Amino acid sequence: MRREDAVALNWMFGTSITSAFELIDDGSISLFRSPKNKCVAHVIGHSGDYWIPAGATTCQCMAFKLNHLKDKYCKHILAAAFCIGISDANEFQSMADSDMEQIFEQHVFQ
Ligand SMILES: [Zn+2]
Repeated sequence: MRREDAVALNWMFGTSITSAFELIDDGSISLFRSPKNKCVAHVIGHSGDYWIPAGATTCQCMAFKLNHLKDKYCKHILAAAFCIGISDANEFQSMADSDMEQIFEQHVFQ
């Protein structure tokens, strides 16, 4: 990544972006796609694991609950959005629609 890109990302997202890239580098993100073309990222963080759908703007982690007015996105949302955005179709594992719906019910909507 070019230095000016890194500076711009840091300006937009604060220190969460650095943590997000650490999660990606650590291989903590798995991507899934259902036949109905819904995408979700499974993010393994230090404090737990989280399911983040494509386009999500919320997360169930404590950092998001405590900081979302200050930092709009936590590292899980940023890592998921970045991975989903740059990954090829073959980097997604397939998941049944029923499993995907269950994840959305249990982990995404509060
Ligand atoms: Zn989070």
